[in-house]
Amino acid sequence: MTVTLDPVLTARLADVAVNVGLNLQPGQDLVLTAPVEALPLVREIAASAYRAGAGVVTPILSDDAVARARFQNAQDESFDKAADWMYRGMAEAFGNGAARMAVAGADPMALAKEDPAKVARANKANSIAYKPALEKISNFHINWNIVAWPTAGWARQVFPDLPEDEAIVKLADAIFTASRVRVDDPVAAWAEHNAALAARSKWLNAERFDALHFTGPGTDLVVGLADGHEWHGGASTAQNGVTCNPNIPTEEVFTTPHAHRVNGTVRATKPLSYNGALIEEIEMRFVDGRAVEARSTSGETVLQSMIDSDEGARRLGEVALVPHRSPISDTGLLFYNTLFDENAACHIAMGQCYSKCFLDGASLTAEQVAAQGGNASMIHVDWMIGGPETDIDGVRADGSRVPVFRKGAWAQSV
Ligand code: ZN
Ligand code: ZN
Repeated sequence: MTVTLDPVLTARLADVAVNVGLNLQPGQDLVLTAPVEALPLVREIAASAYRAGAGVVTPILSDDAVARARFQNAQDESFDKAADWMYRGMAEAFGNGAARMAVAGADPMALAKEDPAKVARANKANSIAYKPALEKISNFHINWNIVAWPTAGWARQVFPDLPEDEAIVKLADAIFTASRVRVDDPVAAWAEHNAALAARSKWLNAERFDALHFTGPGTDLVVGLADGHEWHGGASTAQNGVTCNPNIPTEEVFTTPHAHRVNGTVRATKPLSYNGALIEEIEMRFVDGRAVEARSTSGETVLQSMIDSDEGARRLGEVALVPHRSPISDTGLLFYNTLFDENAACHIAMGQCYSKCFLDGASLTAEQVAAQGGNASMIHVDWMIGGPETDIDGVRADGSRVPVFRKGAWAQSV
């Protein structure tokens, strides 16, 4: 990176990530992954973490050019391998109580020109190797957080017409705004935001809808909710007892759909950036929870291999409600990054569900989660289905209906 970003806002973003995002505890270790360009933020995160009493902070940096060097030069056998030892080490660290932070922001198109079959094989090998560590995250054993930093490749994608330095500064501006660090006391601002999201979750949990019925252009979809589902939003408490904000930024309230009770058609309202490809105008048809048809106008090969990852990849693991108006969507930008784009629109996710999105979720076995309608998969991929014309009805078990969203906004005040 050739441009230096606002050092005060960078330090505040690091402090929000450590103290709100992770709520890192004295003596807790931290495993941190980041693109190499995020080094200025990584250094501030390390400083903030040690001020908060961290044991050992271990950063693991990645580089797009190194990743491309593999696809362009490695022998064929390479693409079925992963750095198993590293993922085992991460699983061991999490098992011993380390917190996990990921800095998002790598170039979404870094691998766009590489062979999609090789990319899919390498991703599959990584997913298998990472699974034991990922389970500690998806089962919420430990406090974890994702925060963002603008890399040149990402900024180029968001602002293709601007010179690179200018694009990076503009993307940083949007990240600082969306991450709510432009106030004197970002920690207090986050407490207020968390309280608002908690009030929405509480209302939905009291309603106990049987299903949500989404309608909008190209969409007429009934998403059955899992038995004993529980809505979450904003801060939540990990099994280690630490209350954290896994996503910075976050605008969503979300829960677990029923893996066998999703029916109808749905059209994406934003492109999905996945495995280095841009998947545009996704349309899917669901029958009894299973995506039986999937189309897109670009990236369809990647889309098909994504939903063929395993049996659970064709079923839903998450449904999330996000108003059309929020600090993120008000930027008017398409970020080509799930952390931001999913928090600008209602979305669903193919694949793995979050066991915490069940009443008493921490005590349920994998078999109980499945029996209540929770989905299992190696993948969890969010895509956006909400927009300014989205209406949602909550459908109760007796068939009566309650307006939940009208024209992309909450229909009730709570
Ligand atoms: Zn979500
Ligand atoms: Zn998700």
